[in-house]
Amino acid sequence: MGKILIIGCGGVASVAIQKCAKCAETFSEICIASRTKSKCDALKEKLEAAGTQAVITTESVDADKVDELIALIQKVQPQVVLNLALPYQDLTIMDACLACKVDYIDTANYEAEDTEDPEWRAIYEKRCEEKGFTAYFDYSWQWAYKERFAQAGIMALLGTGFDPGVTSVFSAYALKHYFDEIHYIDILDCNGGDHGYPFATNFNPEINLREVSANGSYWEDGHWVETKPMEIKRVYNFDQVGEKDMYLLHHEEIESLAQNIPGVKRIRFFMTFGQSYLTHMKCLENVGMLRTDPVMFEGREIVPIQFLKALLPDPASLGPRTVGKTNIGCIFTGVKDGKEKSIYIYNVCDHQECYKELGSQAISYTTGVPAMIGAKLVMDGVWKKAGVFNVEEFDPDPYMEALNQYGLPWVVDENPALVE
Ligand code: NDP
Repeated sequence: MGKILIIGCGGVASVAIQKCAKCAETFSEICIASRTKSKCDALKEKLEAAGTQAVITTESVDADKVDELIALIQKVQPQVVLNLALPYQDLTIMDACLACKVDYIDTANYEAEDTEDPEWRAIYEKRCEEKGFTAYFDYSWQWAYKERFAQAGIMALLGTGFDPGVTSVFSAYALKHYFDEIHYIDILDCNGGDHGYPFATNFNPEINLREVSANGSYWEDGHWVETKPMEIKRVYNFDQVGEKDMYLLHHEEIESLAQNIPGVKRIRFFMTFGQSYLTHMKCLENVGMLRTDPVMFEGREIVPIQFLKALLPDPASLGPRTVGKTNIGCIFTGVKDGKEKSIYIYNVCDHQECYKELGSQAISYTTGVPAMIGAKLVMDGVWKKAGVFNVEEFDPDPYMEALNQYGLPWVVDENPALVE
């Protein structure tokens, strides 16, 4: 039994918090803190009306400010801080956890909010040269905390959403139980859901649009191969969803899996998109609406992508209108006892079932449930080491069991169709 501080109260957080509140044997006290406190209060009311056994409190915090975070952590005295705000806040929250010696958990790696900031840009450009990919996000910022977290005797668990998160645990599980060595990993993220809007994103629009409009890249033979956005397209027939177009993207778990899966030769990440989504995105990009740097408008600065976010449907509001299923998983090819083999581990999640259970669509659900599972394993002391770790660095078995128990059952297909 213990106390968790959860920062952020958006789509993903609302799922994770509701799941934690149903598991009071681990999360006996939950403090929800976010920028807009009224959202935290509304969720507290919902949880209490549903009869949670956990004690729920709420606070307001600006997670861009380390001193505010330190004061909050000192006041709440949690065992663990679960960061479900935005990737922009990863480092400030890690700094506060270090100062207070409290474990840290998140679902997405650090990304700078202002990509035109000259100080950040100098580091970014050097990193692009060294690593060979130009995505705005990478693990170097958070891995740089390894020694400091180890010395403080605390733990950071990075990336416990679905992808990264469950896909990384699937990789550790495949290696532990099915292979002597894994050579190829294809991560396939398929959303077969339909929300009925001409254009909307399923999680934070700013983060989502930055990710999918960037260059793609994959890991092959020890180095990165970069592609133009949406340059590589494949078609795949997904169980319970059907045939979909999917495109190769850069994704953060490729970076950590390349380090943590010994002998891996190639890792690729594909996500499905419909033609209408891609046409809208290209048009928004062409007119400058995806820009992440401030521009002057009627005497004040605005960031176009933030303004666009204000116009688009709130992902948290898509639940009642989204129908269909997601299918997310990994195809592994490698060797066992000298023979080559392939397996496909995946989860299928139904948007309407998620809505019935928690009032959310499946993208928030498939991220919020693994966030709760990661936090539970750390709180219960099942996953516990001092330092900074990605999820595939731990024993996958308790996590895989928890996925079945808490709403994300998975299957292993031992004869999958492969991606060309
Ligand atoms: P939302 O935009 O719905 O929610 C973000 C929340 O963070 C909001 O409550 C927002 O407050 C709060 N917040 C933002 N800035 C601050 C700040 N400075 N201080 C305090 N609170 C702040 O995002 P999602 O729920 O869709 O996404 C949450 C996280 O999950 C993101 O990091 C995203 O990248 C990650 N994610 C990970 C996935 C995975 O599979 N690994 C998949 C999908 C998402 P306010 O309400 O005031 O705006």
